[in-house]
Amino acid sequence: MNVSTIPPGPTSNNESTPCCIVGGGPAGAVLALLLARRGVRVTLLEMHKDFDREFRGDTIHPSILEILDQIGLAEKLHEIPHTKVTGPTLQFADGPFRPFDLTRLKTRFPYILMIPQVRFLEFITSEAAKYPQFRLVMQAQVQHLIEENGVVRGVRYLGVDGEHELPATLTIGADGRFSMVRRLAGFEPIKTAPPMDVLWFRLPKLPDEPPVVGGAFGGIGRGRIFILLERNEYWQAGLVFPKGKYQEVRAQGIEAVRKSLAETEPRFAKHAESLTDWQQMNLLSVESSRCPVWHKPGLLMIGDAAHVMSPVGGVGINYAIQDAVVAANVLAEPLKSGSVSEGHLAEVQRQREFPTRVIQGMQKLMQERLLARALQSQERAGVPWQLKLFVKIPFLRDLPCNLIAFGIRRVRLTET
Ligand SMILES: Cc1cc2nc3c(=O)[nH]c(=O)nc-3n(C[C@H](O)[C@H](O)[C@H](O)COP(=O)(O)OP(=O)(O)OC[C@H]3O[C@@H](n4cnc5c(N)ncnc54)[C@H](O)[C@@H]3O)c2cc1C
Repeated sequence: MNVSTIPPGPTSNNESTPCCIVGGGPAGAVLALLLARRGVRVTLLEMHKDFDREFRGDTIHPSILEILDQIGLAEKLHEIPHTKVTGPTLQFADGPFRPFDLTRLKTRFPYILMIPQVRFLEFITSEAAKYPQFRLVMQAQVQHLIEENGVVRGVRYLGVDGEHELPATLTIGADGRFSMVRRLAGFEPIKTAPPMDVLWFRLPKLPDEPPVVGGAFGGIGRGRIFILLERNEYWQAGLVFPKGKYQEVRAQGIEAVRKSLAETEPRFAKHAESLTDWQQMNLLSVESSRCPVWHKPGLLMIGDAAHVMSPVGGVGINYAIQDAVVAANVLAEPLKSGSVSEGHLAEVQRQREFPTRVIQGMQKLMQERLLARALQSQERAGVPWQLKLFVKIPFLRDLPCNLIAFGIRRVRLTET
């Protein structure tokens, strides 16, 4: 891979780049690939030494598969061991219920592909490394923006061998929910507080156990919601509980988690016995936020840096990559000709902000109307009437599928 070797020194001035992308997550890695294949020189800076991310989301939605198909990479991605989710089976007090079924979608890829995020990012960056325009620097932690007269002109980062300066015509902040670039640029996101948090953990697969219909299971228990996603060698499990109650959940002890899971779905009682230590759990403090402005001269933010999505529908990766696709569509030619204006940056926000607002609005509705009530109730809930209504009306029935798979409109690469 084209990982940079930068000469050692406390501060070295490296060659400048037309485009410096901060953050090798889904948004930054995909944007780097798309720009490099369009002939734009791009440097991707990632602060970690590898792409290993436990429980950062492993979902590749149909819209992303269609885009990878446009550039001839979808089939190759499918060669990586994966599972497929076509829709959850939710277990309510009055029986199982399937709120949506992605197999109804009109697409070559009517499913969510579950691939460890580390494999996905390695795949994308190794494809990008086939282009001489791509340069990846691992263990490069951006700490400062270079600014001249209100214009961002690149970054300073701490590498393994000291501090470096990377002058750039355009800097992209794709450094995730705790974005340093966002903070350095002075952008303040508007936050909303979704009413829940999630603990993620693994459960073992038992010999010869049957798959769950649709590849995903959701169970509404007494004040708890369980999610289980089928993976090749394990179950990826999530325990959803009311926001701010983590200490309470812990105080009840891990046996309470095991009991609650077994009550919600007796089929998983045996699996739950493997839970013995809180170290097995990863806490996701659920957040939802959006920056009012995503750009300033010389700088654009995309992905979680611009908008953190609630986990409802698992669309964070999908939306981050869609931002990258739109950014590549709008910026590739201006970057090549050295004529990126603030109008181009505003155009990326214009195309992406509305879909983000719509999906965040729908997530809020779901959280407040359905999830918060289920989490507050000590009774096992029946299927909410709104859900029953949705699946009965043909037009409405396909709406959640389309929203989850594609958002409010399909994003396509304008040049392949
Ligand atoms: C526990 C958990 C579970 C999740 N599950 C799902 C899911 O199932 N499906 C889904 O769609 N989404 C899920 N998400 C959300 C999803 O991870 C994000 O929406 C998505 O990764 C956003 O992509 P991104 O590229 O914008 O940011 P990130 O994926 O956050 O990538 C940002 C990158 O920037 C790097 N970085 C940060 N600061 C610096 C710096 N100063 N210098 C250099 N590099 C830096 C980071 O190391 C990271 O690699 C989950 C999130 C969490 C926390």
